[in-house]
Amino acid sequence: MDEPILDCLIVGGGPAGLTAAIYLARFHLDIRVVDGGKSRASWIPCTRNVSGFPDGINGNELLQRMRDQACKYGAKIETEFITKLDRDSNSGLFTATWGSGCATAHTVLLATGVSNRRPPMEEKLHDDALARGLVRYCPICDGYEVTDKRVGVIGSDSHGVAEALFLRSYTANVTLIAPDKAMGLKRDDNQKLKAAGIECVDGPTQAVAISKDCIIVDTAEGHYTFESIYPALGSDTHTQLAEMTGAELSADQCIKVDSHQRTCVPGLYAAGDVVIGLDQISHAMGEGGVAATTIRNDLCAKQPRLRERVEDEEEAASGS
Ligand SMILES: Cc1cc2nc3c(=O)[nH]c(=O)nc-3n(C[C@H](O)[C@H](O)[C@H](O)COP(=O)(O)OP(=O)(O)OC[C@H]3O[C@@H](n4cnc5c(N)ncnc54)[C@H](O)[C@@H]3O)c2cc1C
Repeated sequence: MDEPILDCLIVGGGPAGLTAAIYLARFHLDIRVVDGGKSRASWIPCTRNVSGFPDGINGNELLQRMRDQACKYGAKIETEFITKLDRDSNSGLFTATWGSGCATAHTVLLATGVSNRRPPMEEKLHDDALARGLVRYCPICDGYEVTDKRVGVIGSDSHGVAEALFLRSYTANVTLIAPDKAMGLKRDDNQKLKAAGIECVDGPTQAVAISKDCIIVDTAEGHYTFESIYPALGSDTHTQLAEMTGAELSADQCIKVDSHQRTCVPGLYAAGDVVIGLDQISHAMGEGGVAATTIRNDLCAKQPRLRERVEDEEEAASGS
């Protein structure tokens, strides 16, 4: 039997996709979430800047609560990685394909996120260090936690400089380390770092071990010990499906959307880190809610969704 056409297929089950799923399911729409299972939120040992959780919450626990909430209202969630997305220009329908499955939908929401580039270190060491807050990726999220601690920033370009300067307002002990070679910064950047009292160290760099509650980093200038390191090596945005359908990207490779989360492709929407903006849970959730409401309104503008009248028991019994 043919699968019914979905009102919306959501690609990505992080905070953006799951918030949209909660809204869309509660709009009585037929939706499905297909998620590769690699939400950046799943890396978070404990987030302390999400409203409503004064003692913080583990990223995986937050995601599970959101999945439970979406499923409670009828959303279906599958763990699969979509490899192909097509749009039929005649019908306007989308077809998504993964492994051995596929789905057809009137609209698609891309909430596919980004991946942080990792610093040079073994995977197991990286994951242990991340779980213990020795490696951190988001100064806006958790700079507070490194207040007055010894912090290393691994990065060399203006992004690394900006992150080191940002962290300087939390601690006087910030060191910027080049990842792969000598630092080679612009004069202007050097002056800013000097004025802020930030030490610069040449690479190549390798985080090599955890010792007590610190991480040891090997550099061209010797061993350094930090209470946390922040890789500032940029990120890769997951825009492949958007590109397959002809959606426009911004200069920094994010999906371009209007103020209602519509891309330039009719029926295709995007939300969360994959769109330019503040890469944060609150922002991803907000965009997920905006996208879902736009999708609902755009679908209803094409074809009004009028709910069948439910006969009450008395009416049914009297036959009126
Ligand atoms: C270590 C760390 C700590 C952080 N701490 C905080 C914090 O304290 N507070 C805060 O606000 N933010 C924090 N962030 C940022 C936050 O995690 C992200 O902003 C948020 O997860 C973005 O949500 P999203 O839904 O846009 O993307 P994501 O959560 O990354 O979800 C995207 C999902 O899409 C899936 N996907 C991608 N492509 C496909 C495909 N083709 N098919 C199917 N699925 C696909 C992925 O597998 C993934 O599950 C942190 C990030 C990191 C890495």
